[in-house]
Amino acid sequence: MAAGKRVIQRESFGPVAYYRFADDFSPHLRGTLVFQNTLIPGYPHIRRLLRLRAGILRHFHEPFFVEEKVDGYNLRLWRHRGELLPFTRGGFVDPFAYDRIGDFGDFHRFFDDHPRKVLIGEMAGPENPYIDIWPPNISEDVAFFVFDIYDLDQRRYLAPPERYELLEQYGLPSVKSFGEFRREEVDRVEEIVLDLNRQGIEGIVLKGRQRVLKYATPIINLRDLEADADKLLDLQPAFFIQRVVRLVLGFDEFRLPLTPELQTALGRAFLEGFRQAVQRVREEGAMYHEFSVRVHREETIPRLLDFLNRASSQIRVEYAGRERVGDLWRARFRKVYLRSTETLKAYLRGETILD
Ligand code: ATP
Repeated sequence: MAAGKRVIQRESFGPVAYYRFADDFSPHLRGTLVFQNTLIPGYPHIRRLLRLRAGILRHFHEPFFVEEKVDGYNLRLWRHRGELLPFTRGGFVDPFAYDRIGDFGDFHRFFDDHPRKVLIGEMAGPENPYIDIWPPNISEDVAFFVFDIYDLDQRRYLAPPERYELLEQYGLPSVKSFGEFRREEVDRVEEIVLDLNRQGIEGIVLKGRQRVLKYATPIINLRDLEADADKLLDLQPAFFIQRVVRLVLGFDEFRLPLTPELQTALGRAFLEGFRQAVQRVREEGAMYHEFSVRVHREETIPRLLDFLNRASSQIRVEYAGRERVGDLWRARFRKVYLRSTETLKAYLRGETILD
């Protein structure tokens, strides 16, 4: 953290004022929120298994639930003074979800009865403002799935069966649960993962009483590389290495063949992906991605644009127009990756590097 930057920062969203932990500050996690008498904890990191069978046998001596891991972004939803406020991992109100959250369930009915609970869920779909990957079964717009409920008074996350029951009772969207398993049933968990792998779904989260772990399907690592290879100069090298490591360990565990198609696809992801970045910079002077989002209120568009541009010094987001889609506005944006753009421009004009 930069010297002098305060860990606890004051934030506001319209008339709503609160404090946010901008970094971990033991025992509080980054993204922890403080309202007058209420502390909403940052959502904990989930450790990753790289080998499923060995991991289950090593870590789970009690039964555990298996849930689908939805590939989107994390939101904590709480109602404060009558307003549904969706907070990002970092603890900002997400202007996009603030506009759309009401489309995914009658959350007011839930908070009328449970004002001292927080819903934690994943917003996922191709038309989200923040990430370039989404579940294959969401073909347009976004959807929201709750995967945890935090009780502010008891200071605990509800156990999966309590959560399933509450979500069912209020008709709220839940991540898919495959049910409860014992360590002896590891074969069945493997079958679930193989099935998700065939569908191109991100993975599973294993939830026991003592611990929560995640496991990604082997193929999703290829999908991630395909989605991100044009950002070769923006992302950390470890991002790419990790995906290759996970992919190979997964294919090896499940004895899946490294087919010529897979090998070609992996090579193509890097070569064509990065070629696209070079071509964009050569022809259009910038490495960028285009994306769109659907919102109810026109004022969400500048709010979102401002939010996106404050989030990172490595990207610049430009507004590219809007049109009506049913009852919603579809706003189009261009996300410019500044590091790739500047580095490639320098290479293309013949500058040298020392290696
Ligand atoms: P970290 O685990 O360190 O927070 P990360 O932020 O990169 O890592 P992921 O690797 O995507 O996140 O995995 C954890 C995230 O997965 C959770 O924070 C949550 O947003 C998301 N998620 C999706 N489905 C589930 C689920 N069923 N249960 C719990 N988390 C889920």
